[in-house]
Amino acid sequence: AVSTGAVPPGGHIDELLSRAYRHAERHREGAVADYIPILAQADPEAFGLCVADVEGGLHELGDTRTEFSIQSISKVFVYALLCDAYGHERVLDVVGVNNTGLAFNSVVAIELNDGHPMNPMVNAGAIATTALVAGDTPERRWTTVLDGLSRFAGRALEVDDEVYRSESATNHRNRAIAQLLGSYGRIEGDPLAVVDVYTRQCALRVDARDLAVMGATLADGGVNPLTGERVVSADVCRDSLAVLAASGLYERSGEWLFEIGLPGKSGVSGGLVTVAPGKAGIGAYAPRLDPAGNSVRGQIATAYLSRALGLNVFASD
Ligand code: GLN
Repeated sequence: AVSTGAVPPGGHIDELLSRAYRHAERHREGAVADYIPILAQADPEAFGLCVADVEGGLHELGDTRTEFSIQSISKVFVYALLCDAYGHERVLDVVGVNNTGLAFNSVVAIELNDGHPMNPMVNAGAIATTALVAGDTPERRWTTVLDGLSRFAGRALEVDDEVYRSESATNHRNRAIAQLLGSYGRIEGDPLAVVDVYTRQCALRVDARDLAVMGATLADGGVNPLTGERVVSADVCRDSLAVLAASGLYERSGEWLFEIGLPGKSGVSGGLVTVAPGKAGIGAYAPRLDPAGNSVRGQIATAYLSRALGLNVFASD
């Protein structure tokens, strides 16, 4: 484990966590996602907050054991696995690292950039990333994704079949995105088979505690602080966190960085993972979203924690 010292000892952090929680809990703005029909059934009041430090310490409050589908948060972990397998240059070339300035499911962004997906945190780039996963059959590729994300979480993750079916039945746009990428020669093989693996990865069940541990693994240079297992290299963590800083909260990434000063990744079911390099991962779950698709309470609680714990990477003291 990377040595810390900067995250204060137990008692103090629990007090700050509780203040962050109470501060964010008052916020009821935003709306639960409903473009994937099953997501509309989420409890809008659900709220869980967890900090996992790189020494393996866990601090939790609220609904941290309520499971939800990981959705777009899967993108950063699949990306990290791919960077580990292919290296910095190839992934930079094929998927890119620049913010689109447009919504996560934008087709326009692809057209404006000669079919290049721009970055791995929007759907086009995530589908192009999943397309690179090695394996001769979709089933083998899926196993690689499932095993990799489970190692980040430190436990065997499972697909939520209801979410998978609900999204599969309605994801015309992701299929269109994949076929558009295919038409530009940016995806090898069957684009629809890639969307199927992508849809399964988005339907993996996690809780806020899992997100904190997965984030702490990126914070810890690729070693899961609970299992002690190395999942990816420290170089891959550095590259993946740079990508998150630029695009983790889509077109709101600038505002996020300005307020919080840490790499983070959101998902439409209301999950949010934030990484304080060398220190900790923060996992949040609260389903009401801002217009860009980012958890409202998650952002507010994380901003509080970043300030209270002095985690902003741009701060000099
Ligand atoms: N599975 C979702 C989709 O592809 C993920 C989007 C998200 O979480 N922003 O639309």
